[in-house]
Amino acid sequence: MTPPANGDAAISSARFLIVGPQGSGKGTQGVLVAAAFGVPQVATGDIFRANVAGGTELGKRVQVIIEAGDLVPDALTSELVRDRLAQADAAEGFLLDGYPRNRGQVDDLDAFLTGRGEALDAVIELEVPRDESISRLTQRAVEQGRTDDTEEVIANRLAIYERETAPILDVYRERGLVVRIDGVGTLAEVTERIFEALAARGLAPRHPGAAA
Ligand code: AMP
Repeated sequence: MTPPANGDAAISSARFLIVGPQGSGKGTQGVLVAAAFGVPQVATGDIFRANVAGGTELGKRVQVIIEAGDLVPDALTSELVRDRLAQADAAEGFLLDGYPRNRGQVDDLDAFLTGRGEALDAVIELEVPRDESISRLTQRAVEQGRTDDTEEVIANRLAIYERETAPILDVYRERGLVVRIDGVGTLAEVTERIFEALAARGLAPRHPGAAA
């Protein structure tokens, strides 16, 4: 599957969020979209997990929170994201996965981007029914042995998503940024839907081959 190329008319920035419940496939799709647009994928969950695995100070602070499926405090999370987005490879764009996750983080991201004269180009919403998310997460728990994929923690994470994260989509919808994608289907089908929907908004990748 090769997404449409934009050739010389390539957009000058690609600042995306990908939002969806745990188990929606947003991590996998996010990697493909980021590669195609030539921007880094910044997944806060991955960064936190790497710190836990590496035994860093940050990792020690967040380990218990992550294992319970609760949210790391906004101040800590937003600082981490600001530091990451200030790196040179994110100057032309980025794809944020797993951040912002609540209204406070939306405000933090707005303040950061506004201060740099930047703005988001699109928010990709991956829609997956609750039952489908749960069955995918349960399967992943078996395959990857993630400590935050137990039945109880999965339920907590989905409840937090519905209560705190889903409402941020309304904020971005009001700004006309949300691209809603049906997340049920094969990996390739969903990827194709994402690229088509972005292209329909004039957002075509600079490196389409990267996602092929
Ligand atoms: P994820 O892989 O995105 O589901 O993230 C795994 C865990 O990392 C979450 O359950 C939270 O404990 C923590 N985490 C990731 N992103 C954030 C965020 N934006 N705000 C607070 N906690 C987060």
